[in-house]
Amino acid sequence: MQRLRQGTRQGALIAVEFIEVKFIEIKSLQVAQVHPERTSGTSGKGSVLMSIRIIRTGDDPVLRQRAKPVPLINKAIEKLLDDMAETMYDADGIGLAAVQVGVAKRIIVVDVGSGLYELVNPEIVEKSGGTQVASEGCLSLPGIRGDVPRSVNVTVRGLNRQGEEVEIKASDLLARAFQHEIDHLDGILFTDYLKPSEIVRVSERETRQR
Ligand SMILES: [Zn+2]
Repeated sequence: MQRLRQGTRQGALIAVEFIEVKFIEIKSLQVAQVHPERTSGTSGKGSVLMSIRIIRTGDDPVLRQRAKPVPLINKAIEKLLDDMAETMYDADGIGLAAVQVGVAKRIIVVDVGSGLYELVNPEIVEKSGGTQVASEGCLSLPGIRGDVPRSVNVTVRGLNRQGEEVEIKASDLLARAFQHEIDHLDGILFTDYLKPSEIVRVSERETRQR
């Protein structure tokens, strides 16, 4: 828990620097390819098989489901966490919720460039610092972006993959990413905060570049 808090503080600092260039969760439709399973040694438990899962997009009904709490972290959940991180990195995203890979469970992964956060049953327990508006995109809504108001600081509580309760204090981009991903667990998309005229269309090429 201590180490996680430490990482968060660093993350918040780094996130500020990245806010102009890194905030993107979008990538093109190429993420919808099925990749063969491959080995990767980046998981905490040594070399494990990870898979890139298909990212659900557009009007897929799973994106509007309210995800269910996870009662027990078992091997299947650990594998899901591995796959979600792999899928997020493959898509150049900074966050992914389980519903985006078609699993209606309360699980998110986030990495804004300062390290990976894996959270099961995450909840925002505190918001502070007022709101700030910044451009957002979503891996499930390719080709669009929009300016969304979010709380500047949030405290997020949830379980890590060992089933231990962790608390993360996040600011700026990291706080935004947590708010965006936890919204997914309640079937909320960033476009729900916008009027149609506030949704900006971007080309697939632009999407990929950002
Ligand atoms: Zn999203």
